[in-house]
Amino acid sequence: MDLKKIEKGMELIIEGLGKNIDRKKLKETPKRVSRMYSEIFSGIEIDPKKILGKIFKEEYNELVLIKDISFFSMCEHHFLPFFGKAHVAYLPDGNNVIGISKIARLVDVLSKRPQLQERITNQIVDIIMNVLTPQGAMAVIEAEHMCMIMRGIQKPGTKIVTSAMRGIFLRDLRTRAEALSLISSSIKM
Ligand SMILES: [Zn+2]
Repeated sequence: MDLKKIEKGMELIIEGLGKNIDRKKLKETPKRVSRMYSEIFSGIEIDPKKILGKIFKEEYNELVLIKDISFFSMCEHHFLPFFGKAHVAYLPDGNNVIGISKIARLVDVLSKRPQLQERITNQIVDIIMNVLTPQGAMAVIEAEHMCMIMRGIQKPGTKIVTSAMRGIFLRDLRTRAEALSLISSSIKM
């Protein structure tokens, strides 16, 4: 990541805002913003496929659900935050499971880049399907978008819910219903 460029960009934004702002007070801001961006976009430099890491051999073929994973991301359309909770479920193939903290870490790495909620949702399940080859994977994300709250239609409290399903969650309504009912107790709509 080129922090100097980000700093320059921020200087231009401040310049573009016109003469009526007190530039002296904003002197350190470009540097601060560039350091902040290196943190909130730190996922860009990490390969999400490598996050899931070690797969454990374990005879288990019941639902695994990791609920209420909080995340913060930046909408790629407006560079404003969107944030909320991700719920991720998978049904192992009977032999392979992963450390549950790895799923939270996956959500983290995918969030810390310019993103769309729809895309994060799809990426989570596709990567789990790819690396772990479970019977199925499912992700539900509920989030609030600052670009809907502080600009545009200005609707605070509006939640966007996206979901993605693969494998058995698409085919088997009972498995899907089980996961959704476990998740829905935490979705306040
Ligand atoms: Zn936006």
